Amino acid sequence: MSDTENTTAEPAGPNFASLGLADPVLRAVSDLGYESPSPIQAQSIPVLLGGRNLLGTAQTGTGKTAAFALPLLSQLDEKQRSPQILVLTPTRELAIQVAEAFQTYARYLKQFHVLPIYGGSDIRSQLKGLQRGAQVVVGTPGRVLDHLRRNSLDLRQLRALVLDEADEMLRMGFIDDVETILAKTPDSCQRALFSATMPTAIKRVANTYLGDAEQISIAAKTRTVERISQSYLGIKHHHKMDALTRILEVEEFDGMIIFVRTKSATTDIADKLEARGFSAAALNGDLTQALREKTIDKLKRNQLDIIVATDVAARGLDVERISHVINYDIPYDNESYVHRIGRTGRAGREGKAILFVTPKEQRMLRSIEKSTRQPITPMNLPTNAEVSGQRVEQFSRQLLKVISGEETAPFLNFLTQFSQDNEISIEDAAAALVWMAQKDRPLFPRQEALESNFSSGKPERSDKPRRERPQREDRPRRDDRPQRDSKRETKPALAGVDMVTYRLEVGHNDQITPSNIVGAIANEADIESQYIGHIKLYDEFSTVELPAGMPDALLQHLQKVRVGAKLMRISPLDKNATLPAASERPPRSPSKRPANKPHAKNTGARGYGGKPDDGNRPVKKKKYGKLKAQASKKGE
Ligand code: AMP
Repeated sequence: MSDTENTTAEPAGPNFASLGLADPVLRAVSDLGYESPSPIQAQSIPVLLGGRNLLGTAQTGTGKTAAFALPLLSQLDEKQRSPQILVLTPTRELAIQVAEAFQTYARYLKQFHVLPIYGGSDIRSQLKGLQRGAQVVVGTPGRVLDHLRRNSLDLRQLRALVLDEADEMLRMGFIDDVETILAKTPDSCQRALFSATMPTAIKRVANTYLGDAEQISIAAKTRTVERISQSYLGIKHHHKMDALTRILEVEEFDGMIIFVRTKSATTDIADKLEARGFSAAALNGDLTQALREKTIDKLKRNQLDIIVATDVAARGLDVERISHVINYDIPYDNESYVHRIGRTGRAGREGKAILFVTPKEQRMLRSIEKSTRQPITPMNLPTNAEVSGQRVEQFSRQLLKVISGEETAPFLNFLTQFSQDNEISIEDAAAALVWMAQKDRPLFPRQEALESNFSSGKPERSDKPRRERPQREDRPRRDDRPQRDSKRETKPALAGVDMVTYRLEVGHNDQITPSNIVGAIANEADIESQYIGHIKLYDEFSTVELPAGMPDALLQHLQKVRVGAKLMRISPLDKNATLPAASERPPRSPSKRPANKPHAKNTGARGYGGKPDDGNRPVKKKKYGKLKAQASKKGE
């Protein structure tokens, strides 16, 4: 990479159309939104289209599958049903992945069949597939050999053989099988071998079977990138967008470039970011030169903060205010990585580069790290608390700016009048206004809403945010286990909060659980579940502790809320009432309910728990801000 490239982001280098690929294949590539060939593709495609053998040093993530699939498919004879292309892979996962890639690239080839064959799956269906005819077979060495021995795989018409991840096959002890298979392929067959490394045993195979193959490699030149702090986030592909949003919320950035692999991803992500309130635009090779320049100009002039770009479109881009580069999709090679992150740290400024790495891309990460001669440190996904902290800070700043800069006196008059007319304190009204202003970007986002997307991936977050999740008993339960008491007295949030016990006219006989009560009150009164205290279930009724000071209007509203089939009819518990022992009976099974008994009458009331409404439907929120404010003040 050099920094003498043009600064107008002019796309350069080869494009797919100039490589000589067949039209149907080109159409498929264009559908996929690939903008330009990756380095390994640019080098391999002409060699393979020219019928020569190829020895390629490349690893997963460089685009090597398309590097061999596209040229080989371009030369396929659609009428010949016996295998023309055989790809050997070390694992069944890779076999499936490569077969899927062939299927995708061959979508405009009529009568095309690809068959993955690997051990551990039913051989009969593979036999049937081979009998039906498949032009491309992708398999693991053991199973391919098995089919050769059974004479179910006919390699006589084979035109091309690809050894994918040859060093892995060696490492897994398949090299003898590979050689046996190689020996059974016709001499005229074109051969390609891809390997991340070139150990002696692989070189020997190459010498024996690939003759004077064209050698290509994605050179891993080393480069130092000072002034740029580099980190990576281990993440599953489908969590990337949420992770990006969190990072954008907490990082203090000026200008930013987000790198992706496809043109479609540039527009997709830019649109999503715009929808989330960021000022973002796409930069890809589909845009006219004039439009590209206009976009870059906007970034320079602070009219735009984020550009989502492909490598080609961002080539040579030189904008001083770019403080961050996010590699949303890992680059194909180390060169591109260095080129990408070099878009920040311009003109002597500090820069920050963040790289998203999926589990499959670990190896590329190591290789990039080596090539830049600088550590790429692991980072954690910003936690809920961090996101919330940033939102509060930003909102406070905005508020102070408005207070100091705008004429707000008429609104103060309005608030005073409103507060008198409705007997609502100005603080309560202000709290409601804050809520309204931040409805789409809550200052205190609910834990679940932000974290559910990250619950499954191991590498992608630290334990820290997980520990912040509410305790199990705080979350509404969906099971029907008998619950005598929800043990809420242990909650730290309730320390120092005055509590009042209320009576609800629903109990065990109504097939409800404490979580149904929590759901109803939390949703309708908008009290966070941590401020709902002790709940006891009796046969005919139940009791619940709530922070003191519930407004009358809210109490009235709760009268109309159903838990199970019945209205909860909440009222303060008579302090002198003697209570029976709390029921230990499990709720009756739903089947015991008389068939004609209605679940809930259509009275406009809301229902929680019981059947069929399990309390998980979305409900309109009522504010109980005073309670929350009081509770949090006392809890401190
Ligand atoms: P591979 O190295 O073959 O495992 O490919 C890695 C990923 O890059 C796959 O998801 C491909 O779909 C994608 N890919 C391959 N070539 C291109 C290209 N020229 N432009 C954009 N994406 C590509």
